[in-house]
Order: sequence, then C-alpha cells, then structure tokens
Amino acid sequence: MKVFKFGGASVKDAEAVKNVKSILDKFPNDQLFVVVSAMGKTTNALEKITEALFNKDYDQFRELIQERKQFHLAILNELFEDKTHPVFKEIQDIFNDLGNRVNIAISENYDFEYDQIVSLGEVVSTKIIHAYLGLFQNDVNWADARRLIRTNNNYRYADVDWKKTEELLLNYRNKFPSKRIFITQGFLGHTPENFTTTLGREGSDFTAGIVAFCLNAKSVTIWKDVPGMLNADPKWFDNTVKLDKISFKEAIELAYYGASVIHPKTLKPLQNKTIPLYVKSFISPEAEGTVIQQSTENDSLIPSFIFKMNQTLLSITPKDFSFIAEENMSFIFKAMSEIGLRINVMQNSALSFSVCFDENERKLEELVERLSMDYIVRFNKDLELVTIRHYDAETIERLTERKDILLEQKTRQTVRIVMKDI
Ligand code: ASP
Ligand code: MG
Repeated sequence: MKVFKFGGASVKDAEAVKNVKSILDKFPNDQLFVVVSAMGKTTNALEKITEALFNKDYDQFRELIQERKQFHLAILNELFEDKTHPVFKEIQDIFNDLGNRVNIAISENYDFEYDQIVSLGEVVSTKIIHAYLGLFQNDVNWADARRLIRTNNNYRYADVDWKKTEELLLNYRNKFPSKRIFITQGFLGHTPENFTTTLGREGSDFTAGIVAFCLNAKSVTIWKDVPGMLNADPKWFDNTVKLDKISFKEAIELAYYGASVIHPKTLKPLQNKTIPLYVKSFISPEAEGTVIQQSTENDSLIPSFIFKMNQTLLSITPKDFSFIAEENMSFIFKAMSEIGLRINVMQNSALSFSVCFDENERKLEELVERLSMDYIVRFNKDLELVTIRHYDAETIERLTERKDILLEQKTRQTVRIVMKDI
C-alpha cells in the first residue's frame, strides 16, 4: 500500500483532476490510498460561508454558496460528457442543503459548526474525483474519513485517537480486498458521537501520515506544484536548490523553524515507523523530487533558509533590576501562552529577556499591559526573522547585507537572526 496526497492546487480545475488520474495511472500495480484536499481555494470560501451564517448575513451566505456551487459544477461539466451522471445531483444537493441551513437553528459553538461546514470542501472534491475515476475503472472506493479517522471533540484542532483510528482503517481495508484505489478526504475526522471534526488548516498532509502509519504503508508521496522540498521559499529567493534527500530529523527541524512545505505533524508518525515521505511535482511526476527518510548523511550539504516576516521583538527588564531568570521567564511564558502568542525565538542577558513572535497588534497590547506592572517593556515591529540551517560565513553576510541586526543566535547547525532594513 502506498499513500498519495493531492493538495488543493493539484485539484483546482478539471485539467488538474485529469492530471491526478494520469498520475494514478502510472501505478497500475500498487494498492493506493489517495488523500485529497478541497479544490483550489474552497476551504477559504467555506470559512467565509460559516462566518456569514454566524453573522446572519444571509445574502452574503447565499451568494458565496452559489459561487462555490458554480465553481464545482463547471469542473463537473468539463469532466463528464453525460450530464445525467448522478454526481451532478449529489454535488448540487450538498450545496443546496448547506444553503438550507438558514432555516435550521445553528449551534452556539462556532468551532463545531465550522467543522460541519468547512469539511464539505473535501467531501465534494473526493466525490468528484471518485466519480471521474469510476468512468474508467471499477476498482476505486470512496472512503469516508468521517468514519475512519477518530478524534476527540476539540473542533477545528481535533486530536487523533490513534488506537481507534488504526482499528477502523485496518477493518475498512480488509473489508474491500478487491478494491485497489481508495479515495479519501484529507483534514477530516469524526468524534465517537459521529460528528465531523477537522485537524487544523492544511491538515491533509497529516491525514496522509495518519493513514500510512495505521496501514503500515510502504511510502507516502505528497504531490505538489514545486519540484520537491527546496532550500528556501522561491517567493524570497531566485536561486533555490532542491533538497534531494534529507532525514526526518532535518525535515522536522525545518518545519519547526517555519518551512511550509509539509504540515509539521505529518512527520512524526512516519518517522516512528520509518515510512519514507516523497515530495514530488504533479507537473513533472517523473522527476525525482525529495525523499525524507531515516539516514542523515545528506543533511548538511546545502544551507536552507527560512524567512518569517512581520515579526515583533519584545524585551523586558525588571523595574527593580532584580533579575532572577527563571521567575521572569516563567512569568512571561505563562502570559504568552494565555494570550496565545507563540514564541519564535527567545534570548536572555543579565538584565533583560527578549522574545520574538508573529506580529499581532491586539495580543501585543495585551502582553504589554500584563508585563508593564513589573517590567520596563520595549518592543520593535516590522522585523524579519531568518533561520539558516547549515550556515557558513558567506551566506550570513549575504543575507544580512544592509540590515540592522537586533538579535543573533547561533548553534552548531543553525543561526537565527532578527533584523530590519537599515
Ligand atoms: N483544505 C484544507 C485547508 O485548505 C486542508 C488542506 O488543504 O490540507 O486547510
Ligand atoms: Mg489546502
């Protein structure tokens, strides 16, 4: 069994869906579990639809649903010559039912309703792809992740019940020995009470990791619009280099520092069972891509850069100059975790403690207010944080040219610099 994952960009229109089929056709002898995201920007649209419903902005609600319905019907029209194919009605019904929600009382729990609505993106995309593949072959099953991935009821950020999920997935696969391809939804799960949950935005990669772990897959392949894992985001760099082969450990480090190629939760289950993860291009599926696996031999060959923009650096000094590092740190950690600010870098000196985090005006104000009683608080905004793995003097110099450095932190493998334009 191999697990494939196709993200939103790889199923954004009819052409892309045909391309998914052509990729699957290259693996006629493999059993495939195929995890699919919502088409294009559908998840964002469904988030807006949920918001409109809660704001009782029914015109907006209906308009947005209509737009998404037409988007999917246009794709169906291109894929299916037979306009009486049952999938047309199935997709229309899903959007019509969603529209009828204005007539039903909604729960007060926003996150609960969010999951019931936003999950429809994956339901619709997998139904379309399953029906399309069904035009050519009969060994394809539509697998409902809302019956297979068991989670708790932490809506929008549900935690997986691994034991139960493993049982459900194994039973499910054994029930269909004659099926070779299973199409399932990324990002979705269900509670013991059978309510739909989601695993956090961009969670489809994680679904691929869960399925591979539970079914002891031979490998996972994430099909993307980039040739593999690159050493930097092409948004900021012209001369990016593909990493051919890196270790799980290195990939986890890169994900931790903010590289956005794979959802960070995906790697742990794969590493636990040493299931290799391939990142490949759906545009050139024959090309090598990147493989993430156990051995670390190639890790330090190429420096990797991770940029985070819009950073705030905040420093505190106790007003009485009595610096007891542990106490001050635990105070600021507690405040930050209660406010919901995630620390990107921290550093302390004799009399001050500094933290760098993603800009957020409201949370910054709250933090400053909490700290101002006992501390002199200073902060700088509009900063950049660059992390370089496997750095050398020349790359540091190049990246910090014409920059004012506010904080620099070096370990043997990694340098992290908070800086701004001069
Ligand atoms: N469709 C979901 C999202 O856009 C999950 C995913 O794409 O991974 O967040
Ligand atoms: Mg997506």
